[in-house]
Amino acid sequence: MSAGVVVVGAGQAGFQLAASLREAGYADPITLLGDEPDLPYQRPPLSKAYLAGKTDASGLELRPAAYFSDHRIHHRPSVRIDAIDRAARRVLCADGTAVAYDHLVLATGARNRALPVPGADLAGVFQLRGRADADGLKAALVDARSVAVVGAGFIGLEFAGICAARGLSVTVLESAERPMARAVSAETASFFTRAHGNAGIRFLFGAGVTAIEGEKGAETVRLRDGSSLAADLVLVGIGVIPNQALAEAAGLAVGDGVHVDAFLATDDPAVSAIGDCARAPSRFADGASVRIESVQNALDQGRCLAARLVGRPAAYDAVPWFWSDQGPHKLQIAGLSAPSDAAVARPVASGLCVFRFREGRLSAVETVDRPGDHMAARRILAQGRTLSPTAAADPAHDLKALATGR
Ligand code: FAD
Repeated sequence: MSAGVVVVGAGQAGFQLAASLREAGYADPITLLGDEPDLPYQRPPLSKAYLAGKTDASGLELRPAAYFSDHRIHHRPSVRIDAIDRAARRVLCADGTAVAYDHLVLATGARNRALPVPGADLAGVFQLRGRADADGLKAALVDARSVAVVGAGFIGLEFAGICAARGLSVTVLESAERPMARAVSAETASFFTRAHGNAGIRFLFGAGVTAIEGEKGAETVRLRDGSSLAADLVLVGIGVIPNQALAEAAGLAVGDGVHVDAFLATDDPAVSAIGDCARAPSRFADGASVRIESVQNALDQGRCLAARLVGRPAAYDAVPWFWSDQGPHKLQIAGLSAPSDAAVARPVASGLCVFRFREGRLSAVETVDRPGDHMAARRILAQGRTLSPTAAADPAHDLKALATGR
């Protein structure tokens, strides 16, 4: 009997691959191995509705338990894979068992970067990646008075927004000179600095944390310039590291992600990688390989690989897009920008619309509270269309018309 497809990592990408395989008529066994105890779940609400108490754990699940038995997807929770035996085509589990595969998919995601300072392991210092982290944070928020957020990235700012809405004193500590510095333009960054500031959030830019101190738990955060601030809850959100150790130990090419080709195959034809852990070539990065941390990428790579595994190969070519809910605002990004890309802001009555250009070509569009513009931007980028910086700055230049080619 065929061993079928074995997926390591039962997160957004691994689940999507399994579901898309069944939708495409794949009939052989599918085994989804994950080291978390839960049914496969979505992470975005962990820093949004779930943390704010607006949805419960069942609202996170990608599908109810019955879906897995109905679709013959053998989901094994709480199973850690320790090694890949490529010669024997099997993975070795931490409990001593082995699982054979015909095709292996690495969908191991990423883990949070640790803050390398004394006191980072004190009670009251949190990270946010999984449901258990969110549950810990939710419980700590009940008694928290002053919150420090280390890192002004998407998750840190979403968390800061929730804390401010609860009336807590919040300080965001960021080593760069603006929030989301690698991901968005200075215009978008300053929109959010202002919006969060109006909600009472304090920003300290150019701030380096040197230690977290306290008797029983976090009390004080010390900074490189000698200053300090009081905080009984600290969230560290300073980026993630891809989970690539399995691939590396098995001799596959890695380097800030598991290297895959345009079809999401590693250098072993029996092994593929998708989602946050994979580094794939992208036309949106001028053919360079990129590792993208987003739901869109996890879903589209899962679908793309499923199509190849049922005999309908196509190069991965989906337009990258992303969203982040911060306070009352929704940031949406279509495309992929580099920090050096030029930025052109279109005057708009509400929200924000910023076009990014690389060598004169549209690379990305950042919008705030403008879902119509975001959808148009996705279509424009998908079709490889562009517009001039002058047209971008002109609100009379209709984006929808460009998107639909009219
Ligand atoms: P994951 O979902 O991380 O799944 C990987 C799984 O593999 C994990 O369960 C992991 O424990 C498991 N695993 C790893 N190694 C092993 C092993 N050796 N054995 C067994 N299991 C293993 N994206 C957006 O687009 N918009 C958002 O608003 C947004 N918000 C987010 C908020 C939070 C708090 C977080 C953490 C992420 C957010 N993201 C958002 C990012 C998005 O959730 C990820 O890009 C997506 O989950 C990636 O899917 P994945 O399957 O590659 O990885």
